[in-house]
Amino acid sequence: MTRSFPNPVFRFAPSSNGYLHLGHAYSALMNFDMARASGGRLLLRIEDIDIERCRPEFEQAIYEDLRWLGLSWEEPVRRQSEHFSDYAVALDRLTERRLTYPCFCTRGEIITAVAGKSDWPRDPDGSPLYPGACKHLSKEERRRRLAAGQPAARRIDMDAALAAAKLQLGWREFGAGAQMRDVAAEPARWGDAVLSRKDVQTSYHIAVVVDDALQGVTDVVRGEDLFMATSLHRLLQALLDLPAPSYHHHMLLRDASGQKLSKSLRAKSLRALRQEGVSSAAARESLTRNLTLATAR
Ligand code: GLU
Repeated sequence: MTRSFPNPVFRFAPSSNGYLHLGHAYSALMNFDMARASGGRLLLRIEDIDIERCRPEFEQAIYEDLRWLGLSWEEPVRRQSEHFSDYAVALDRLTERRLTYPCFCTRGEIITAVAGKSDWPRDPDGSPLYPGACKHLSKEERRRRLAAGQPAARRIDMDAALAAAKLQLGWREFGAGAQMRDVAAEPARWGDAVLSRKDVQTSYHIAVVVDDALQGVTDVVRGEDLFMATSLHRLLQALLDLPAPSYHHHMLLRDASGQKLSKSLRAKSLRALRQEGVSSAAARESLTRNLTLATAR
């Protein structure tokens, strides 16, 4: 008897807050190659919840640059800014279970609260863990502030969430060498992370787990800078009864000084390379060399 397995589903999920650089091209190409090699599907998702920083011209440039690289993907493309209601449903489910609470603190207040405490724990991105002022507000006080229109973020109550998830969480990791390994998730390292921001009614963490599940993504291939975030994603998936994809966190491309390429550090964009006369064949060739080196590690 033959068993049929569903085709793997990969996705490349850039944020449209700047032009793509070679690091993005590397990630996109890896997704594309893995989808092709496994007979799988490749989706493209535009992560544009940050409506202040994301712009339509960057989104158009993403399509143009990826096509220039010779990549193709399934249509229609999912644009996160069109799905805030999906993220709200997920957040409400957590809130109904008392796994979130509103937080009225400003960044400044949080920094002041931990000032002088040099050993205050930090999350994997280097931000101080939330000290918890709003966690202990009374129901009445929360209601009063919300009714007065005070802007509020929504944080996960990590202790309650860990107790609710019950299971020891982990994931199958295929990055850094071809060997599969089981990784134990450590969501507590994020403390009471923000699940919905004051300015945006969701967060990257909620949007990514909801979308990966809604789109049937089976294989998440992304940079190793998101390795630690996967712990939080696994917790959210468990709490929302969403399936766990396999993960492959790939190495990040670095510049000559060893800095990882990033939009904020103004890494040279694909379009700038193109304007300098670099051919897409040459760009792909240098990325393929990197891919081969990465899988040989
Ligand atoms: N949108 C994220 C970025 O551009 C990637 C998110 C992901 O792959 O999970 O860095």
